[in-house]
Amino acid sequence: MRIAEYPLPFPEDALEPFMDAATVQLHNRKYYVSYQSHLQAALNHFPILREWPEEWLIAHIRELPGGIRRSVRNNGGGVVNHRHFYQTLKPGGPHPMPPELEAALHHRFGSIMRFKEEFASVASGRFGVGWCWLILTQDELYIDSAMNQDNPLMPHADIRGLPLLGLDVWEHAYLLRHHNRRPSYIQAFWNVINWEVVYERYCFGLEQRTNGTLLPALTEDEAHLLADLRRQGSAYDPEATQTED
Ligand code: MN
Repeated sequence: MRIAEYPLPFPEDALEPFMDAATVQLHNRKYYVSYQSHLQAALNHFPILREWPEEWLIAHIRELPGGIRRSVRNNGGGVVNHRHFYQTLKPGGPHPMPPELEAALHHRFGSIMRFKEEFASVASGRFGVGWCWLILTQDELYIDSAMNQDNPLMPHADIRGLPLLGLDVWEHAYLLRHHNRRPSYIQAFWNVINWEVVYERYCFGLEQRTNGTLLPALTEDEAHLLADLRRQGSAYDPEATQTED
C-alpha cells in the first residue's frame, strides 16, 4: 500500500461553491492520508493483509487478528469511505440521473423528491460524526446512517449491504463552508453527485446479488489464512482488553 492523496479526477476547487477548495484539500491531503497511514501501521504487523483490498478487510473485521480490528474498522473504514466519496463526486452539476436508477429510486421511495428528503433526514439525524448511506441489500434499497467510519460492508452494520452513495457528515467535511449548518451542506451535496457512478455500483450490486455474492465472501483458503494470522497475532494484541467489536 502506498500512502498518498486520493487521485482526484478534478482540481481541488472544482466543486465550488458547493464544497470549498480548502475543505477538499484538507480532506484529501490530511484526513485521507492519515487514515491510510494509520491503517498501514496496523497492517505492518500482518504484511500479507496489505495485499488485500480494504473493502475485503472491512467486510471481515471479525475474522481478523484481534489486535488490528479496531484500526481496520476506523482507518480501513476511513480509507474505503473517502475513496468512495470522491469517486461519486463530479463538478459542473447538478448531473442527470440515469433513467434506470431514477426508476429504481422512484419505485422504492415513491419519488426522487421523497428519496432526497429521506436521505437528508437520515443524514441530519446522525448524532455526532458518521456517514449517511444508500445501500443495496439482498432484497432492497435502504437509507441508513452509521457512526464514525463505519460502512455497510462491515459485519456489525445495522443494514448490511453494498454502499451505493455515501455522504460524510463529520464536521470536517463542511465546517469551513457551511459552518454548523449540516442541512445546507446536504442540499449542496445533490449538486455534485456523479449519478453515473452510483448507477454503475447499483448494476454491479444487482449482478453480484444474482450470483449470490453481494458481499465479499471468504474462500476456504482465506478463512484458513485468517485463522493462522489470529493464532500468530495473539502475541500482538493491543486491543485485547477492548470489547467494542
Ligand atoms: Mn471525512
